Amino acid sequence: MNFKDYIRVIPDYPQPGIRFKDITTLTNNGEVYKSAIEAIKQAVANKEIDLVAGPEARGFIVGAPLAVSLGVGFVPIRKSGKLPGEVIEASYDLEYGADKLAMHKDAIKPGQRVLIADDLLATGGTIATTINLIRQLGGEVVGAAFLIELGYLDGRQKLDGIDIFSLMTY
Ligand code: 5GP
Repeated sequence: MNFKDYIRVIPDYPQPGIRFKDITTLTNNGEVYKSAIEAIKQAVANKEIDLVAGPEARGFIVGAPLAVSLGVGFVPIRKSGKLPGEVIEASYDLEYGADKLAMHKDAIKPGQRVLIADDLLATGGTIATTINLIRQLGGEVVGAAFLIELGYLDGRQKLDGIDIFSLMTY
């Protein structure tokens, strides 16, 4: 299956010059969505994963079905102010300004092996912040899995030492 056939590229979204990779045209096809999650599962099968963690919102679309398929729990990573319990937070820079991601303090126990999942790796800022949160709680990041990696942005460099799997690369 050529997964790229199911990605819709939208020019000039959300800003002029950006070619946005729309994954909804993949995930609205049940057979293709399932195959994509299964392919990621195969790639990470040897990692002895205790938990999958994914940043909102599209990280949930990849991470939650992956966790269910692996038979492990899913940890949502959310924008600041969205989680009801006690949280830890970490800031990250955006093109304009900064944003904060949060995770429940009791979401990960020290020593648990955590796989990060998201739809797309661009500059790596989101995942670098996610790694920071997981490590603050004593979790061990065993890898990061994506539907798409934008290779030309070199996000991998920010995630030094983390084992990365991407189903598609642009
Ligand atoms: P980064 O932090 O690596 O620069 O950006 C990655 C985050 O931005 C991901 O959580 C992803 O959802 C979002 N993102 C950036 N560009 C795109 C894109 O072209 N398509 C999709 N689906 N998400 C994008």
